[in-house]
Amino acid sequence: MNFILLGAPGSGKGTVAEALNKSFGLTHISTGDLFRMNIGNCTELGQKAKAFIDKGDLVPDDITVAMVKGRLSDKDCLSGFMLDGFPRTIPQAEALETMLQLTGQKIDAVINLQVSDAVIIRRISDRRVCKECGATYSISFNPPLKEDHCDVCDGLIVQRADDMPDTVLTRLATYARKTKPLVDYYAGKGILMTVDNEMGIGFAMRQIQDELKSKNIIN
Ligand SMILES: [Zn+2]
Repeated sequence: MNFILLGAPGSGKGTVAEALNKSFGLTHISTGDLFRMNIGNCTELGQKAKAFIDKGDLVPDDITVAMVKGRLSDKDCLSGFMLDGFPRTIPQAEALETMLQLTGQKIDAVINLQVSDAVIIRRISDRRVCKECGATYSISFNPPLKEDHCDVCDGLIVQRADDMPDTVLTRLATYARKTKPLVDYYAGKGILMTVDNEMGIGFAMRQIQDELKSKNIIN
């Protein structure tokens, strides 16, 4: 089984990816990790990508596509994978389809995580991070023992500018606008799966399993 994961920042993609890995043994491929790995290891593609990133430019599709293609040929992807952060555009989606056709593979489902803006804003505005070591806290669920100070290093705990409610709203609107063409594209192919991820991971996984059964992808 091969999936694509779609979800706004704060929609809980990481948790769903972990659960899908446990349930179905799917390998999680995040393009963020892929970029960091290629740049860190100074691969040819990593160096090309870095030149664009350093200039503040977007990495062209052909470089991103080549990185994904290389990763998908790794052994751990043979039993199934889930892509996170790719494709972002219709040309990337078409390139993915072409590369999978060459190896007789396909995307079985595109999981689109739905969480209301209000819930995402609450989740994200609860987030605090240690200025010194980067440890993360949630005021509601995982507060530091000592107010405003890190449990690990005693550094000062702050809210990132990106996590302020106004900034989060802007990020969510941008995400929705950029992702809509992809959502429509996969809906048109009949493989879009809309999953409510507001009620916890157990509920989200039940919806995924029910939909996979109804489509005869799993028994
Ligand atoms: Zn710390």
